[in-house]
Amino acid sequence: MKDIKHLLTALLLVAAPFVATAQSTDSVDVRDYDVSLDFSSGLPYRGHAVVSLSLLRPCQSIGLELIGTVDSVFVDGQRLATPNISEIPAADRPAGQEFEVEVYYRLNGYVESSGWGGLHVESGMTYNLGVGFGINPHCVGRAVFPCRDSFTDKATYTLRITAKENWSAECSGVLQSRTMDANQMEHSVWRIDQPVCTYLVGISQAPFSRLDTTAGGYPLTIGYTDAQNINTVRRVFALLDTVVPMFERCFGPYRWHRIGYIPTSRGSMEHVNNIALAYQAMASMSDEGQSTIAHELGHAWFGNLVTCQTEGDMWINEGGATFCSEVAREATHGRGSSNALYQKNLESVVRTTHRTDGNQYRPLHDMPHGYTYGSTTYDKGALVWHSLRGLMGDSLFYASMRTLFSRCAFGNLDAYALRDSLMAYSGMDLTDFFRQHVFRPGFVDYRAELVRGDNPQRVMVRLRQQGIGTDSLVSTARLPLTFVSYEREELIRWIDAQFTDDVAEVWVDLPWEPSYCVLDLECAVSDAATVVHINTTPDRTYAYDAVHATVRAGDESQPLNLHIEHHFGHPYDTDTIAGIVRTVNRYWVVNGDRWTAENIECRFRFVRANNTSSDYAYLDPDFYLRTPTYDSIALLWRPNTEHPWRVMTRTKSGNRDEGFLRMRNLRCGEYTIAVVDSNLLSIEDAESSDPKICLFPNPVPQGAGIGLDVPTEQPFRVEIFDTAGRRVWSASGCRSGQTIRPNLVAGTYLVRIENNFISLHSNLIQL
Ligand SMILES: [Zn+2]
Repeated sequence: MKDIKHLLTALLLVAAPFVATAQSTDSVDVRDYDVSLDFSSGLPYRGHAVVSLSLLRPCQSIGLELIGTVDSVFVDGQRLATPNISEIPAADRPAGQEFEVEVYYRLNGYVESSGWGGLHVESGMTYNLGVGFGINPHCVGRAVFPCRDSFTDKATYTLRITAKENWSAECSGVLQSRTMDANQMEHSVWRIDQPVCTYLVGISQAPFSRLDTTAGGYPLTIGYTDAQNINTVRRVFALLDTVVPMFERCFGPYRWHRIGYIPTSRGSMEHVNNIALAYQAMASMSDEGQSTIAHELGHAWFGNLVTCQTEGDMWINEGGATFCSEVAREATHGRGSSNALYQKNLESVVRTTHRTDGNQYRPLHDMPHGYTYGSTTYDKGALVWHSLRGLMGDSLFYASMRTLFSRCAFGNLDAYALRDSLMAYSGMDLTDFFRQHVFRPGFVDYRAELVRGDNPQRVMVRLRQQGIGTDSLVSTARLPLTFVSYEREELIRWIDAQFTDDVAEVWVDLPWEPSYCVLDLECAVSDAATVVHINTTPDRTYAYDAVHATVRAGDESQPLNLHIEHHFGHPYDTDTIAGIVRTVNRYWVVNGDRWTAENIECRFRFVRANNTSSDYAYLDPDFYLRTPTYDSIALLWRPNTEHPWRVMTRTKSGNRDEGFLRMRNLRCGEYTIAVVDSNLLSIEDAESSDPKICLFPNPVPQGAGIGLDVPTEQPFRVEIFDTAGRRVWSASGCRSGQTIRPNLVAGTYLVRIENNFISLHSNLIQL
């Protein structure tokens, strides 16, 4: 389900209800509800329900719940002297024997304290929403019929609806009959043959128009009101032709015979066969609306078919359905678009979810009642389903999910049973994954860096980790790294890292010498980082909010193949440097096929303090509150982790509260933003500040070798670029004191010298 952020005023006729409550126990199994509702005479609505149930163990009495007025109660045809459904005598009944409780009752409509769940009686429509945010238990089937509201007691249903004059009903189940009587009252009968929870039963009546069509081979009925026209409705639901087959390929067959949607003013809810959809999503095309249509349909698997065992594992339902929006986007727009949606969600979750869920990073499992339907459940839940897919790989993940939805159909699972089932189906050990992502709070940020040895095709990957919102570091991690060669070839390798404290080192053999590596370029694992790949062309601007950076390629710029990672981790090695007062808890890693990129400007976003008016509120909490002057904010850079940070610029755009720090000629390396004490740290001249390497002679005559004097004991790589940025010569495994003979034509060149400890460059003139 999904809430509408800004509820529109609706005419609500809410009488103070009589609330019959009963202690939920597991002593009863309801098998079937046969519910008749008569809307024809207006409020109070008259109801009649026959509840077929049995005892799971002998007990003195059992209870049903109803938010309404009970008029009379019969047990197996015998009228009870006192119409009290919360205490129905059952003393002499054996366990397992079915019996019937028949209840005559009245409803006046009911809306729970958050204004969402219940039975809404509006001027143009009557409908229920089966879940309430502000009520315990969250299931509110009892707003419509006497029942046992729980996530585990599943039953079948017959719904018999008499609609208001000239109105028509849309309900959960398959339509059995629809007839009109002499008074223009519609009588309809609906049957749900599959066992489902009470909260999934949707009833509605309105002066509906209907679009009867098909989607993915299933009957599709859209009930819409006059505010929308049929062409819009057709366009809005066209995605289902693609999405239903995609969901079936991923998760197995759709088990509910037909698909249906109706509009509501309050929000969206996944009632079986009769999805309540926020009317905005039905009235016009929007990404959010399309996403909601897919989310609610995704519940046909996540929640409706396999339900969380308790509300504490609601992420299985809601995180799964939110993940389905991403799968739907992949079906309609391709993987690039769904990855962008995923990264937008990831950025938002790491930045804000702990704020909106009570200023606390929360584990997905065992969620407290008040946060059952919070951002952690929905949004972090979706990330974790996404990561599980990434870790297992598409074919194994979806095969395991299809097995899960087949073997656990119409049942319940908690996080442990889910983990153990997927492990059994896939043969993969998911213990560490569930421990990190489901049973613990927060995130882990990984930083990967290459360390070069004597063999250029054999490199060590040094990984560092830090916890975000958790003190627990992982002992093992399986991470995808993309290696990029000097010729722009790319190769993905999954690295199995064993961490000792916060560091892991893994040797990797490659078919060529890598220039650099990028962590999780394909968006497979939900660490606390996002990444973009840009191929620049001159005179273009690239704004990537997911990495909080904007790249501007100038008119004169050479094309650049660029990867920017944005990490929500504290920048390493800043805390001990005199002059750095405070940094943001973020850093960037920029890699590309040139060391420096003339005329390519990169802007790095900052947001002052906790500025909640920003689209990126809480990006830099508590970073900039106490700074004495605005001018002390600065961009720090270093070529890699072996170098000290340097102040590169204080050039800003934006306003006092938020904006960007601008690096005019982009360099590869690490960046972060700091408040600096300018008496202790001065701004480097970005164009000439590198420690000089010594090339001799320079200028170098034709035919002469070039001696290298470089301040490192380690082997390094030498690359020589012409003034157009083309690499004209390169060699690996060079050492200080060596002489190279590149045989260049006369001209000016840039010489770049790099290993894991240094990254230097110098001009060279060939005579
Ligand atoms: Zn949902």
